[in-house]
Amino acid sequence: MYRAPRGTSDILPREQGYWSYIRQKAAAICELYSYQRIDTPTFEDAGLFVRSIGEETDIVEKEMYTLEDRSGDKLTLRPEGTASVCRAYVEHGMHTLPQPVRLYYDAAIFRYERPQAGRYREHHQFGVEALGEIDPALDAEIIDIAWQFYVNLGLDGLILNLNSIGCNVCRPAYLDTLRGYYAQHLSMLCPDCQRRLARNPLRLLDCKKASCIPLADQAPRSTDYLCGECADHFDQLERYLALLNLPFIVNHRLVRGLDYYTKTVFEIAPEGEVVAQATIGAGGRYDNLIEQLGGKPTPAIGFATGIERLVLNLKKQKRAVPEPVSPSVFIAYLGQDAKEEAIKLVSLLRRSGLSVILACGDRSLKAQLKQANSTGARQAVIIGEDEIKRGTVVLRDMDKGEQQTIQLGEVVKVLSRS
Ligand code: ATP
Ligand code: MG
Repeated sequence: MYRAPRGTSDILPREQGYWSYIRQKAAAICELYSYQRIDTPTFEDAGLFVRSIGEETDIVEKEMYTLEDRSGDKLTLRPEGTASVCRAYVEHGMHTLPQPVRLYYDAAIFRYERPQAGRYREHHQFGVEALGEIDPALDAEIIDIAWQFYVNLGLDGLILNLNSIGCNVCRPAYLDTLRGYYAQHLSMLCPDCQRRLARNPLRLLDCKKASCIPLADQAPRSTDYLCGECADHFDQLERYLALLNLPFIVNHRLVRGLDYYTKTVFEIAPEGEVVAQATIGAGGRYDNLIEQLGGKPTPAIGFATGIERLVLNLKKQKRAVPEPVSPSVFIAYLGQDAKEEAIKLVSLLRRSGLSVILACGDRSLKAQLKQANSTGARQAVIIGEDEIKRGTVVLRDMDKGEQQTIQLGEVVKVLSRS
């Protein structure tokens, strides 16, 4: 027996209501804020992700699905959305468009992780990116989209964590200070953190190991080491978020797991959730990434949210989503002549815009009506041998159980009215 690969799942019809609800809300909020959809390939050159995400990150170190194709090219299944969008921005010369360019995507993401609730090897992200502008008002816009999206979905009790991790000017001195601090506590660090200290000290701040958390709490804070420009940017962002009535907490341990971030970083999670995979959405500014990928210096900011985690939270908060639509009409028949008439009628009704299910398998009338019931159709049309001769059909109201005989030629008209 084959099963879906570990960490992947089938999204069955009974689950699809959540997915279409989330996707409709995502498309609607993007229309409201004027973000346009972009779709990029499922796989890219492996180098694109190594360059952008950074060699010392979890994703590049141990989570990428990389394969060599028959021509020897190294390709990686997209482990996040931003790098591909930036590659497309550069490749298609989007810097010539009016800036910022506002884009969104909805895509499958692949990471070799240890599967558990809310953490999969294939998951889906809805993300937005605004490229070509440094104004902190744009950071506020991106955070606002994220927040309003969750509000529109009906999710409650969310916390917005915010931090600034500085830029190329101020970060080196902060990283030195951080390394100096951690060097004094080396023996208390977990093996991963000991290894990462030299090359990626920022990551020590978000280590989830119990022994590392108290050290991170006491560590020097990036916001105390910001250069003038980054400090101003962060101040203004805080003011704009207050103007937007977005409640946020400055969290000094928030750094994000990708190297490309500069200045603003943020995460949104349900209040009081302690598990590592509680975060439902996150983002930040990445002012050097496009230049690093061969474009002109282009500041940008983005956000992404995991759709599976949204489904989990909608269920947890018992949010109802629209039910699948039932067919309007079920067509039952008795005998071969009636079946042929039924096949013609079904096609006529569908062409007039009614959703119809035709009985199949030549079963008894009782069995067909049972089938009709289970589809949720409000009306059934029954075509029998005698009716065929008289050019009539029986129309049955499935809720009331009432029946009437009408002319075959009238069915489309009568049903279109009801
Ligand atoms: P985490 O800290 O939970 O590993 P992350 O920081 O790696 O998340 P991002 O790269 O910011 O996640 O991805 C954005 C969002 O995508 C996350 O907030 C989360 O909702 C979702 N997500 C990330 N990884 C997974 C996964 N393996 N399975 C399901 N959803 C995921
Ligand atoms: Mg992760």
